[in-house]
Amino acid sequence: MTRSLGTLALTPSPMGWPAAVLVLAAIVLVVAWALWRARERRLLAAQKQLEDRVRERTLDLLRERDRVLAEKARAEEASRVKSEFLAMLSHELRTPLNGILGMTDLALATRLSTEQREYLQLVRASGESLLVLLNDLLDLTKIEAGALALNPVEFNLRESLVDAARPIFVPIRTKSLGYECRVSDAIPKTVVGDGMRLRQVMVNLLGNAVKFTESGSVQVDVTVSAFEGGRLDLIFEVRDSGIGISIEQQEKIFEAFRQADSSTTRKYGGTGLGLAISRRLVEMMGGRIWVESAPGHGSSFFFTCRLALPEPSSDGAGRSPLEILLAEDNPVNRRIAETLLGKLGHRVAVAPNGLEAVELYRGGAFDLVLMDVQMPEMDGLDATRAIRGIERTTGRRAQIIAMTAFDQEGDRERCLEAGMDAFLGKPVDSHQLSAAIAACPVQPAGA
Ligand code: ADP
Repeated sequence: MTRSLGTLALTPSPMGWPAAVLVLAAIVLVVAWALWRARERRLLAAQKQLEDRVRERTLDLLRERDRVLAEKARAEEASRVKSEFLAMLSHELRTPLNGILGMTDLALATRLSTEQREYLQLVRASGESLLVLLNDLLDLTKIEAGALALNPVEFNLRESLVDAARPIFVPIRTKSLGYECRVSDAIPKTVVGDGMRLRQVMVNLLGNAVKFTESGSVQVDVTVSAFEGGRLDLIFEVRDSGIGISIEQQEKIFEAFRQADSSTTRKYGGTGLGLAISRRLVEMMGGRIWVESAPGHGSSFFFTCRLALPEPSSDGAGRSPLEILLAEDNPVNRRIAETLLGKLGHRVAVAPNGLEAVELYRGGAFDLVLMDVQMPEMDGLDATRAIRGIERTTGRRAQIIAMTAFDQEGDRERCLEAGMDAFLGKPVDSHQLSAAIAACPVQPAGA
């Protein structure tokens, strides 16, 4: 009995160790679970704290946004009220001013003594200056209030430049100055942009050029700086041989009411608004304006501006696509003509000179050739003769339209003699181009 009790006491039951291990594992699990829960609670608390902070910050930001929006609306309203007030004021001022100018004109048309005439002419001149100032002020306030919108239309750039130069014709003659305006023939006749505002910038630059030049000449140059996807970037230069502007003054003159120096105001008059308005207009047209000048050596005012090519008119769009060979050496002219033809739905192969045009013609099937006359390697006349030679062996005949800037007596005959069918004056105009193609008696090669 004793022995058996001792055996019982000293010998563990067969299930004893595993149970202990199980209990231990359970304890470990419970502790791990408790730790994990505690960690999770901590994480949840941190997350909640973070969410609270984000919510608070979001509310702050929303309040800030509402404040900024309200401020912006207030500023816009103030600016609108200001420009409305200025528009009204300018209208109210212009009405009696027009009365003064009109009545002065009537009085000037009557019999007057020399003294009376002189006084009235001074009234008229002062009235006109006041009108210019009012118009400039109105423009500037409109631009600053964001109330001036550009009005892009199709316009003829060359005609617009002639219009812009009209106000300087008289002073140019009185001062015996030379005047020249050169427009690159890469620029099509019709372009799309705000022609009126462009003219306004030119009127200002030309007016200044003549105002500050006593002898020599004023020159205008317009060239293409880039042509991309139907957009045309132009550079305008207005050069004069006048008094010039020092480097320090060059920095100021594009600001409103700033003139090079006060003696200029006394001697030449003006308000100092012209260049400030021009700068803003040019920027609205996607460009910039700057000056290069030295005192006593004249000034060159430059500005860039972005215009577009007009959509081709429907007169040439109705016809089936043609295979067109375009021979033109000037890369910008080539790109412009290629784009216009592409917009009309035709397929275009291009050649930079007569020789390559003939080679392309030999290897292809073209309905129409647009042939520049002046080209390196081989000119348009020789290339046409070569093409007509090839056609004698193939029996096909393409229409060849000459493109040339030299629209003089005899040019047309020489083109026709060489074997061309029609004649297109440069710069190529989208309307003329589509009309010339529409008038061509060609059937597409595949038809
Ligand atoms: P305004 O001619 O009415 O004074 P602008 O803004 O057109 O105003 O010109 C500002 C100033 O820039 C002129 O007063 C003049 O001092 C200077 N300036 C502009 N164009 C020329 C120029 N072609 N030659 C010399 N100075 C010029």
